Amino acid sequence: MAAYDPTNIFARILRGEIPCKKVYEDDFALAFHDVNPQAPVHVLVIPKGPYINNMDFSAHAPADVVAGFWRAVGTVARDLGLEDQGYRLVANNGAGGGQVVFHFHVHIVSGKTPPGFGRVHA
Ligand code: 5GP
Repeated sequence: MAAYDPTNIFARILRGEIPCKKVYEDDFALAFHDVNPQAPVHVLVIPKGPYINNMDFSAHAPADVVAGFWRAVGTVARDLGLEDQGYRLVANNGAGGGQVVFHFHVHIVSGKTPPGFGRVHA
């Protein structure tokens, strides 16, 4: 796996170099609206540490960091009021898995999502 690139766009958002529409932040995660929403609700949740994707995060992040991150994902969905209407979680892994930004992130989407969302794009 290639090394983590600290100039990726989400690393720059974490450092405050680029603005985002923040919805949640704690010690483990930052959540913000996707700049190009594919659904009425489209929020990205990212860990604070330098992990490329879930292959990297699940293998190398300490257990408390993994737990803190996934708790944050649940908290964000609850805070967004999505428990009743439901939502989807999508995490693209690697270029072949449709990943474009190489800082691990989970998409929370809810409402009408395009049928192809979350599938690998050619
Ligand atoms: P991926 O394909 O890597 O899973 O998804 C990357 C997501 O990041 C895309 O949905 C894209 O719209 C979003 N994105 C890319 N650049 C920015 C940005 O500068 N700000 C925000 N808020 N979202 C971004």
